[in-house]
Amino acid sequence: MSTEKLVVHNIGLLLSGALEQPILDADTIVVEDGRINAIGRKDNLDIDNAQVVVDAAGTTLAPGLIDSHVHPVMGDWTPRQNQFNWIDSYLNGGVTTMISAGEVHTPGRPKDIVGLKALAITAQRTFSNLRPGGVKLHAGAPVIEKEMVEEDFKDLAEAGVKLLGEVGLGGVKQGDEARQMVAWARKYGIQSTIHTGGPSIPGSGLIDADVVLEADADVIGHINGGHTALPLDQIRCLCEGCSRSVELVHNGNELAALFAMRTSIELNQPERIILGTDSPAGSGVQPLGILRMISMLCSLGEIDPEIVFCFATGNTARQRELDCGLIEKGRAADFVIMDRAQHSAGSNFLDSITKGDLPGISMVIIDGVIRCRRSRNTPPAERLALVESE
Ligand SMILES: [Zn+2]
Repeated sequence: MSTEKLVVHNIGLLLSGALEQPILDADTIVVEDGRINAIGRKDNLDIDNAQVVVDAAGTTLAPGLIDSHVHPVMGDWTPRQNQFNWIDSYLNGGVTTMISAGEVHTPGRPKDIVGLKALAITAQRTFSNLRPGGVKLHAGAPVIEKEMVEEDFKDLAEAGVKLLGEVGLGGVKQGDEARQMVAWARKYGIQSTIHTGGPSIPGSGLIDADVVLEADADVIGHINGGHTALPLDQIRCLCEGCSRSVELVHNGNELAALFAMRTSIELNQPERIILGTDSPAGSGVQPLGILRMISMLCSLGEIDPEIVFCFATGNTARQRELDCGLIEKGRAADFVIMDRAQHSAGSNFLDSITKGDLPGISMVIIDGVIRCRRSRNTPPAERLALVESE
């Protein structure tokens, strides 16, 4: 972790990630020891003795994006489409934190209980020790099988496992069995996600609304399908029938994503909406997947862009109890600095997203350390943040 002082000033638009106040009246952020120390107007803040000063050039700063649903395996390699450096590519799409929904693509993945526990602990350890590109990847998400008993969840928790892989990808597909194991997991502080909808690939199965509601996992994983979505009336039942997180993914059904978002907002529960990619998968690796979701939901769903950015940042941080995702004193200094893409029809940054364009990223900062300058993956930003001194 950094022990430096970093200042970002000349921020034209500061997105907070918090639904209750998505835009902050401030132009400067002071970071110390990797954490946000102060937010405000430059003239009122102590910006002296900073090792790194970033001029945001009047552009937009938001919390680093969180991908709530990825399937990592080992290091920065995915066997699903056999690509290297996929996580580093997502960094170039503004993603600073990822959550594993199961290391299911591991070649020869063990399904016996000792083996699946060992794999989860290995993944938790390897990604704790390694941050590809600087990205924080919370991994070690075992896929539960029928023979598991309460002691197994206790063992996993004591070994540092904090997540369950998507319930339904293993042998546990009945609502009552899943409910028992999800409850055991919760008892030991392990957060759960359930697969929702039709099979993803040959060999996986259907999980319908009744099973999702009975299982009662913390996150309704890809409520818009991965890719095959449930009928919309079942998606409505899920939104109305529980208070769990509503996860919308890039590798899902876009119509169903828009429906689930509108239904959550109708219910006055926008804080439940979180975004993921569900990648790597059959649909591939999507470095810009979270940005594409933001732009799609904003433009087609007719929701203000500063609100949709909260779905990809503060909502996920709160639902998943992460120390990032919000521009707030004490939070991890994870930022993405963006501007309207060159030649967008939008009149400014927010209008360009409303019109369906992607933004251009000029810098990504994680724990107060610059991890990426001008993105190699987004369209070029009109104005670029610059480092003044380091
Ligand atoms: Zn799934």
